[in-house]
Order: sequence, then structure tokens, then C-alpha cells
Amino acid sequence: MLPTEALRSRLIARLSAGLFVALCADTTAQAIPLTSLERTCELIGERLGSVGVRQCLDSGLQIGGGASVSGLPLLYRDYAATSQREPPKRVLMIGGIHGDELSSISVVFKWMDRLEHSRFQPFHWRVAPCTNPDGLLLQPSTRVNARGVDLNRNFPSADWERAALTYWTRRTGSDPRRYPGPSALSEPETRWLVDQIEAFQPDAIVSVHAPYGVLDFDGPQEPPERFGYLHLHQLGTYPGSLGNYAGVNRGLPVITLELPHAGIMPTAQQWQRIWADMLTWLDERLTDPAPIYLRLDADPWNGSPPDDADGRADFGASALNLLPRQAAPQ
Ligand SMILES: [Zn+2]
Repeated sequence: MLPTEALRSRLIARLSAGLFVALCADTTAQAIPLTSLERTCELIGERLGSVGVRQCLDSGLQIGGGASVSGLPLLYRDYAATSQREPPKRVLMIGGIHGDELSSISVVFKWMDRLEHSRFQPFHWRVAPCTNPDGLLLQPSTRVNARGVDLNRNFPSADWERAALTYWTRRTGSDPRRYPGPSALSEPETRWLVDQIEAFQPDAIVSVHAPYGVLDFDGPQEPPERFGYLHLHQLGTYPGSLGNYAGVNRGLPVITLELPHAGIMPTAQQWQRIWADMLTWLDERLTDPAPIYLRLDADPWNGSPPDDADGRADFGASALNLLPRQAAPQ
């Protein structure tokens, strides 16, 4: 599988050693240096044009008890509800499960900042902005993790055993960008995410991707029609995807935000509108009754993709935006 062992070794070599830990759930457990939070933020900040090292360090992220294949800690932060309703509903938000979708990480940092400064928000959030740090930090960034596994095909959906590898070979032509792994939950990053779902017991999950420019939804509920300039376009489910596992099998609403560009951030107006619409929808669906302050004016807003000066490049040439869109999103 790609990337090769050599790439993985180079990545490990770039990481300065912190604690030495065994990746405990890995049957081939070996001592891997766990990169420090500070070094991880340095690397993330150096890679992402829209997230500074200081911003990452000041964001309150903590090491979440799991690590990537190459020993990068999987970071998260909880935000308590700031309104009075009890008990608050819980929302798990994740970014960057595909490491080459840089905007999906940067925008989660923007929304973390909103949560940090929000005076009225009714949910208990758990936010993990960078769930495939190896993929992000490989040069160039990769969709898959350091063992070449598409983490969003590695969840233990009910059809994994029957369909995941067959789907991969027959429907994707054994596309190395979509390899589901040798077995469900073979990857430490996927195991950590499932552990978060088990421990946090979210009432909804938000997963941010790029570059298809749509809103996707899995779960038994009626889907939202649009968040900001992202309109509903249900893309179907795949063996081992988060939407299949958590939405179809576990019955949780799984919101998949597909930003339109992997390497260019939405404008502030665009990401703020997505956020406001999403909060409104969550509040209407997860709580009863919805508070009046969140019933926002539903004026249509005709945003256009950030192909102009407002779009901030996340890396120099924004080369990913020049690539043809792939057949299978998420
Ligand atoms: Zn994706």
C-alpha cells in the first residue's frame, strides 16, 4: 500500500521524541515515540496556512489517549454547554479524517474559536480537529493514514466483512486512496474515534471533508436541506464509512460537510453561515423547544465558491484544487 514504509519512516524521523508508548491496541505493538503536544502543534501550524502554531497551542487541545500509526497524539477538546438546559445534548465534531483535505482541519479550528467565545450555545461538544495527523503531515499530504488505509472505510459497519474489500477491488479498481484496511478497526486512528463515540455517547456527529461542496447526511432523521452554501446531496454510503457505521448502523445523525476546496478556506462569511445554520438545525432537531435566539432569519444567501481573493490558500499552490474531482467523495 501507499504510502510506503519509507514514507512512514521519514515521517517518524521528523517527529521529535516525547514519551515512548506502545500503541496498546495494536497487535504488532512496538515502542513508538509519542510526539509532544507542543511539537504536534508546531507541525500542524507549519502545514496549515490558516492555523498558527500559537493558535493551536492556545486552543486548549489535549492528548486524547490515542495516537496515530507514527506516534502523533490524537487531540481533542471538550466544550461545555453555556446555556442552562440540562442535560445538554452532545455533538462530536471531527476534522481531517482524510489528511489531504486541509481546509477540513482549518475550518474546525475556526469553529473551535467560536465555541471558545460563545456565550449561548446549548451543546456539549467534543472536537477532534485533526484525526489523521500522519496523512496531513506526510509530504505531500495523503488521504490515507501512514499505513495506506482510508480511515473512512475502516469503521466497523455491519457490512464491512461482507463488502468492504469486495467493494474496494470491484468498484474502485483497488484505488490505493480508498483501501479499507485488512480488517475493520485495523487502524489506531479509527479505533480511537470509535472509542470516542463509545465514551462520549454523542447525540450527533459532524464530520468535515472536502472538496465536493455539498452537505451529506446519514441517519434516520430527515436531513437538513442546506448549511450556508452547502446544499444537501446525499452521496450514499460505503462499507466502513463513518456515515454507514454511526448513521445507518447506530442510528445517529451524521452530518458530513464537504467543503468545496481542499486547499482553500471558505471565506469568513461562508464558514460563519455554515456554522450558524448547523447550530440552528441541531438545536431544532436535538432539543425541544428550540430557543428563540437561535431561530435565525432564513434569508437565502447566495454565496459563491471562494475562488477569489477572499479564499485563503492553505498551502502555496493550492494544487489540490487543480485536480479533477474524484468519483467517490467523503
Ligand atoms: Zn474526505
